[in-house]
Amino acid sequence: MRDPGLVRDGAVLVRDGNIIAVGPRRRVTRLSEAPGAKKLDLGGRVVLPGLVDSHTHLVFSASRAAEYEQRIAGSTYEEIARKGGGILSTVRALRRAKPQALKTRVLAALRQFSAHGTTTLEAKSGYGLDIKSELATLRLLNELHQEQPLDIHRTFLGAHAVPPEFHGRADAYVDFLVAKLIPRVALNGLAEFCDVYCDRGAFTVAQARRVLMAGRAFGLVPRLHAEQLARTGATRLAIELDAASADHLEKINPADIRALAASDVVATLLPGCCFHLGIPQYAPARKLLDAGAAVALATDYNPGTSPILSLPMVMSLACTQMRMSPAEAIAASTINPAYSLRRQMHIGSIEVGKFADLAIFDVEDYREIPYYVGVNHCVMTFKRGEVIYSREGT
Ligand SMILES: [Zn+2]
Repeated sequence: MRDPGLVRDGAVLVRDGNIIAVGPRRRVTRLSEAPGAKKLDLGGRVVLPGLVDSHTHLVFSASRAAEYEQRIAGSTYEEIARKGGGILSTVRALRRAKPQALKTRVLAALRQFSAHGTTTLEAKSGYGLDIKSELATLRLLNELHQEQPLDIHRTFLGAHAVPPEFHGRADAYVDFLVAKLIPRVALNGLAEFCDVYCDRGAFTVAQARRVLMAGRAFGLVPRLHAEQLARTGATRLAIELDAASADHLEKINPADIRALAASDVVATLLPGCCFHLGIPQYAPARKLLDAGAAVALATDYNPGTSPILSLPMVMSLACTQMRMSPAEAIAASTINPAYSLRRQMHIGSIEVGKFADLAIFDVEDYREIPYYVGVNHCVMTFKRGEVIYSREGT
């Protein structure tokens, strides 16, 4: 992760949306296919693989700016949730939302993702929490995956919160997920992954195990929200179930770090969440990296804890707040999340045979991408060889 594999004065040759050559410009331009290709001179800018955002809650119908103000005034996230705010307020809004208005809103967000260099993202359900709204969310994500250029990988997150109709009966809600919703989601091919918000005040490790094992029996690969607010043992569960990813990890302990590093589970860190909530304790990225864990970064784009859709911004936070190097932050936003989405053969690096998913940054040095905090230097984004975003004047 420390070596970004930099090619100076490089070129990429693309055919039918795939990379067929990459390397020094002098070598690539001499290849037999090169003279017939349309040439695009990027003027010495930095070209990265299209960024891969492996943790988002993409589909929601309203911001929670009022709650943001309450938190600034001193209420904690858990206090707000207990008073009916938090995830459940987004659930109420989503259940009432008009489908077309919701789709327009999500499409606008997707355009913002591509404007910041993202070409593939994971998106979770989990603001419906009943059969109708959960299935509608996943169907919308399927539709969007087909209709616009970004690839969207779907995760069923029915176990995000206990809905009002199951208030105080979390186990009964888990029974409902296992018996009713998971089979419907899986048999209709609506998701690839299954996730659980396993934490203090959310679902227990035992409940998460039931949900993820039921999903796995139907072919849904487990992912897990783990050790965000408290150390619960969720990381151990992710390892036990061979999950694709364990996400958050702010409260992970040293023994868990060693176990995670010895496993194939990707450690997905979400520093945007700590930043937005004003929580000083970021996940121990340095310890995870030094132990040898596969670390990924993601935005956790959601209306409550991380309304951030810029992976370059997340890279800045990773560097300054978690002491990741710029090269590590780039690997953690490209190849490692690709691995956690089981798409490492197609995306996440600029290599022959992979999709020509590329993000162009108007900087002279790749380290300037996290360095210039809060400024979007992405000027052009390609998905499978097609320009899907270009800043005017570039
Ligand atoms: Zn999340």
